[in-house]
Amino acid sequence: MKIVVGHLYPEYLNIYADRGNIAVLAKRALWRGHELEVRAISAADSIEPGAQDLLYIGGGQDREQALVAHDLARKAEQVLAAASAGVAVLAVCGGYQLLGRFYRFRDGTELPGVGLFPLHTIAGERRMIGDVLLDCDWAGRTLAGFENHAGRTYLEPGAEPLGRVVAGFGNDGQSGFEGCRVGRAVGTYLHGPLLPRNPWLADWLLAQAIAHRTGGEPPQLEPLDDELERDAQAVSARRARERGGRSN
Ligand code: GLN
Repeated sequence: MKIVVGHLYPEYLNIYADRGNIAVLAKRALWRGHELEVRAISAADSIEPGAQDLLYIGGGQDREQALVAHDLARKAEQVLAAASAGVAVLAVCGGYQLLGRFYRFRDGTELPGVGLFPLHTIAGERRMIGDVLLDCDWAGRTLAGFENHAGRTYLEPGAEPLGRVVAGFGNDGQSGFEGCRVGRAVGTYLHGPLLPRNPWLADWLLAQAIAHRTGGEPPQLEPLDDELERDAQAVSARRARERGGRSN
């Protein structure tokens, strides 16, 4: 089947090769006989109900976020409608922050958010940089990646984190949690890109997108030989552990 991905602001939000996440989704879909069609969604575009099965938004510097935030906020109802209709979402770093309620810079300027994730972000003085390792109890899996952000993200009470920080800073360097999950929507600070070294999450997202397309349950995708991916995660996880707890 054809799986449609809406890539939000690819021309602005794409640091740390975040575009690589789309390449992984495309390949893993293809290896199961599915075709992934990627459509860019920029300022002039709207998010038509039912048109996409997965929405993707990457990371970016404060300057790029400021260039897209107000346009994205105007599309908030469309994003929220898509998510509540079962569209899967992957939001990375700067994109993750903009799908929260707001992102406040150190000078007090505030970028509006979409409000999909029950959280807000405030820029801190020191950037939080380095390899990260998470435990995702909900999936019985780990996630490994790389973070580089000034923003401290605060989850609201009852919000579900993506994972528990084993090594690294995570959302705010204090809470011990990273990312956020709301139904089929996942937000995270993890770059790298994220999916090449965490194929289970790519398959989880693909299964959610297929469920949206079929209106059925997320399918169990046929396993692939992920030896290279496992090695890549092992290297990333080792670097994160060598870095130790929630400080550089
Ligand atoms: N500009 C945001 C921050 O510094 C996000 C950075 C990113 O996407 N890597 O926190």
